[in-house]
Amino acid sequence: MTFELPALGYAYDALEPHIDALTMEIHHTKHHAAYTANLNGAIDDTDMADKSIEKLLRDHNDNAAVRNNGGGYWNHCFFWNVMSPDGGGPPSGAVADAINAAFGSFEEMQTALNKAGMTRFGSGWAWLMVTGDGTLAITSCPNQDNPLMDGSGTPILGVDVWEHAYYKKYGPGRADYLAAWWNVVDWDAVNDNYAATQ
Ligand code: MN
Repeated sequence: MTFELPALGYAYDALEPHIDALTMEIHHTKHHAAYTANLNGAIDDTDMADKSIEKLLRDHNDNAAVRNNGGGYWNHCFFWNVMSPDGGGPPSGAVADAINAAFGSFEEMQTALNKAGMTRFGSGWAWLMVTGDGTLAITSCPNQDNPLMDGSGTPILGVDVWEHAYYKKYGPGRADYLAAWWNVVDWDAVNDNYAATQ
């Protein structure tokens, strides 16, 4: 299998002013493209070449090239899909009920996800995931790791806290980036991700 860089479902400037067009373009055409190419390079002509990305992340993450580039490939595909120019606001649907059940309120979940992103030292991701018992939980991972790798959960929402995701607009202001990012969260996509786990 050869993995391909997916097209975004919106223009590079569509998430302005919350995420700037230049950051989106570099993030997609340079960072995500490099993870995709390097993943393909790591699995070409090996017994991993015919495996799904989920299987690679679960079963072959002892291979550093597969872990880092496969994680980067999957995480960014996921990230583009949970953002939309029509996003933001409070959650809706079944995921809103699940958030209230797990955290008490949307605001408490936001606080917990922001904290996970802020306290991730260096580069990584903060995730809202469905755990093995079906409940929602917050976690964060270093580098391009995600909860699929250790089986701790299935992400339904996640945010990239690498500096490349925000530095051009926000400088070192990761908190400002996270605050703005909530304005582009696509709750319809999060509901689709949640439904797929049920
Ligand atoms: Mn990134």
